[in-house]
Amino acid sequence: MSKKCTLGKCALCSRENIELMKSHIIPKLVYTRVKTYENARFRNYFNFNQIYQDGEKKPMLCHDCEEFFSKYEVEFTNKFLDKYLALNNQTLPSQYDGIQNYILTVSWRILYDDLFVYNSFDGTYMRTTYELLEKRLRKYLNQIRTDNIEVKTLNEPCGNKLQSFGEMIASYEKAIYESSLETLENIKTYIFTLKELGYSNEIIKLLDRFIFGYCYNTGDLKKYIIFTSYKGLIIATVFGNNRIILIPNNINDFFNSSQIKNSLKQEIYYMLEQTKKAYSKNQEILNSNNTKEKLKNRYKNAKKLR
Ligand SMILES: [Zn+2]
Repeated sequence: MSKKCTLGKCALCSRENIELMKSHIIPKLVYTRVKTYENARFRNYFNFNQIYQDGEKKPMLCHDCEEFFSKYEVEFTNKFLDKYLALNNQTLPSQYDGIQNYILTVSWRILYDDLFVYNSFDGTYMRTTYELLEKRLRKYLNQIRTDNIEVKTLNEPCGNKLQSFGEMIASYEKAIYESSLETLENIKTYIFTLKELGYSNEIIKLLDRFIFGYCYNTGDLKKYIIFTSYKGLIIATVFGNNRIILIPNNINDFFNSSQIKNSLKQEIYYMLEQTKKAYSKNQEILNSNNTKEKLKNRYKNAKKLR
């Protein structure tokens, strides 16, 4: 594959005309732990002819931002993921201080990709909330970095144009937003296992070779959820947009983990249904003589990892 470099604007630090790396949306360290064979590759289940060496990569971040994220990925793998995998029984090891930052780095990448690469939620009422969440997570991540990279501000100043009342309010809110620190108010992260969500061993086994992550919102538009799933883990970031709903009195209820679990369970159930629908078409591709032969050669002398 060609390693040609792409120049552009870094999605995190917003520096322009900078070399962009091919970034993983879900970290490579996760993909290498899902692989069964050393030379195995990944397919996009819903677009089965798309194949990735070690997970999907897109030009997204500059070298400095990649390095910044990789610190969190290594820490997560050493202090949590590998311990969890060693237990091998769907039990969660204790969570270390700072695990939330890892979760947010991944959630932000998924959300950014959904919004600006896939252009999801386009023309919907929800898109503004997703965009707000993306901005807030990006601000938070840039705030916790210690590498002295000069991050460009999120918005350009709007000059001295005559403004309508609505625009004035918006620019006032923007000024407050830009001058205050991001505190992650109404944003919470969670880690569950599929077992905790009530899934059977068969389903857990079935999902063992899948890696997925995307955003969705609850039907009442109160909760906006970004989640990833692999190796029986469900890792989620939940946002309650208090510009639209009033959260204050029942904040604990709102972020109550059994409610979040229910919502995730429904979503994964829905995803399983979609998977079932795609199954026969994918099987057809796998059974075609051409693919069969390729796969046979690929795995002939392949080293099995697990
Ligand atoms: Zn950057």
